Amino acid sequence: MANKRDYYEVLGVSKNVTDDELKKAYRKLAKKYHPDANPDNRKEAEEKFKEVSEAYEVLSDPQKRKMYDQFGHDGPQGFGGGQGGYYSYTTSGFDGFGDFGDLGDIFSSFFGGSGFGGRASRNQKASGPRKGRDLKYNLDVTFEESYLGVKKEITILRDEECPTCHGSKAKPGTKTTTCKACNGTGTIRQTVSTILGQMQTTKTCPECNGEGTKIEEKCTQCRGKGTIRKTVKIQVKVPAGIDNDQTIVLKGEGEAGIKGGPRGDLYIVIQVRNHSVFKRQGNNVTCEIPITITQATLGANLEIPMVDGSKENYKIPEGTQGRFKICYKKQRFQGSKQYISR
Ligand code: ZN
Repeated sequence: MANKRDYYEVLGVSKNVTDDELKKAYRKLAKKYHPDANPDNRKEAEEKFKEVSEAYEVLSDPQKRKMYDQFGHDGPQGFGGGQGGYYSYTTSGFDGFGDFGDLGDIFSSFFGGSGFGGRASRNQKASGPRKGRDLKYNLDVTFEESYLGVKKEITILRDEECPTCHGSKAKPGTKTTTCKACNGTGTIRQTVSTILGQMQTTKTCPECNGEGTKIEEKCTQCRGKGTIRKTVKIQVKVPAGIDNDQTIVLKGEGEAGIKGGPRGDLYIVIQVRNHSVFKRQGNNVTCEIPITITQATLGANLEIPMVDGSKENYKIPEGTQGRFKICYKKQRFQGSKQYISR
């Protein structure tokens, strides 16, 4: 899985591409590489199409794009490796195609039909396991905490598998039968006309809402949802040196998966509070210390505060003038120097 191409490069756009330009670029390439439009070299087109779709899926989602800009393919979620990287990671599927009008049908037929087993697509065989939703949490930390690192306990509300029916949605002991309308597939096939001609598409079975099964009696605890809302406490390790707007990803701490699918992930977005004395500049800590005219004229011993709470003594010689900078290397954000200036 090494040497994945850069997503921006795949779509032929710049790093600061707008949503509109991105959509345009994607639409053009998706049309060009759609396997059904390339009957002579279908396999190759399919690869290209997959690459383009994956790139678009990530870059069109602000959160995923931010993660990608921050970590690239080797992000904490292992975007670059494993089974198709980002592909396996999405839960909402290709909802974005909805904007494309008739193209939407082509894509849904492609992914829902023979496709590449687009597990994430909502048009896939809906009775299969699906990944739970991702969650986002904004976590405030103090300047000192961002500098030193900190362990925090957060409380989130999320869907957990129902302990009574274990996600089956049926009251224990009652019967669950196969849906007769779709023969348990959860989808119904139909033929539609698209700009590429007649195509088979699949749509969610309206009888069973894509479940493939019919429940005789709903589980009373979750009222047939299969999940219950639950308040959970989670320990978050905030690494030393974290900066404002950086994100920590806790894999598998999102909402419960559906039908035995994996759990979603939890995105923790860090907000560092402003400090009254210290500021961060890149990886440096700065701190301004004003002195009086008397101190400057006669010289003085200063106590200079460090972010870890300790103090350093500094002797100002007599006759000091103007602003000057004192640099401490012993304290730093992630391998940076610490500067103290006045
Ligand atoms: Zn239940």
